[in-house]
Amino acid sequence: MWIDTHCHLDAPEFGADHALTFTLRERAAAAGVGLCVIPAVERSNFDTVRALAHRTGDAYALGIHPLCVPNAQDDDLAALDAALTAHRDDPRLVAVGEIGLDFFVPALCTTAIRERQAFFYRAQLRLARQHGLPVIVHVRRSADQLLKHLRELPTGSGIAHAFNGSEQQAQAFVDMGFKLGFGGACTFEPARQLRRLAAELPMSALVLETDAPDIPPQWLYVTAAERAAGRAQGVNSPAELPRIGAVVAALRGMAVAELQAATTANALQALPRLAALELAP
Ligand SMILES: [Zn+2]
Repeated sequence: MWIDTHCHLDAPEFGADHALTFTLRERAAAAGVGLCVIPAVERSNFDTVRALAHRTGDAYALGIHPLCVPNAQDDDLAALDAALTAHRDDPRLVAVGEIGLDFFVPALCTTAIRERQAFFYRAQLRLARQHGLPVIVHVRRSADQLLKHLRELPTGSGIAHAFNGSEQQAQAFVDMGFKLGFGGACTFEPARQLRRLAAELPMSALVLETDAPDIPPQWLYVTAAERAAGRAQGVNSPAELPRIGAVVAALRGMAVAELQAATTANALQALPRLAALELAP
């Protein structure tokens, strides 16, 4: 089976009351996706992702996303700590995430907001350590900073989601016990550096993700001109994961089944609590 290690099944793009979520999740199951990991992004969706994971038979993570940091309050960290404590015996809670640093979005790059992001990131690394959970990190123009804090507060394992850095940065994450998440971005031929990494990194370093509804793969992507002509953007969902896996397998010159088995094993290493769910009937 395939594991989508990162998808926001609770996103508003999937309709009010998750109308589309369940249809797409069934489609993904039919395509062989056995488990999805649904990361929270802010305090207000902690309960939503947990309830959703229980309804769909998936896994979830709790955390405060760097893009949500400008609106987050200090006591959101206490709320996160309380939620991690309350659900410590929930086998579907598999990580602290999505946390990290984003130095791409201009509004997040002021000195004050950069410091605020680092404050939330470090506090959440500490919570992950206290609760014995791995982390799912958002990396955008921030790999070196993320790694610096992680070296001071190591979590043992985790996933650098939507990885898009250098080979040296990839290796540094691997040295910290992390796997690197590859998804729709590497289905685009112009993404040469990313495709080279997907092809050449050790097999043990890779996990797959759709980041749905974000980062649609090439076959769902609609250009600005096409959109202007009335063509709707395709909806990215975990059902796309096997096809993304086939692209990565082709880049590596290996059989799809072999890549499936390896990336699933890697996901269980990165997020060890998934193993109990994988074995569940
Ligand atoms: Zn995400």
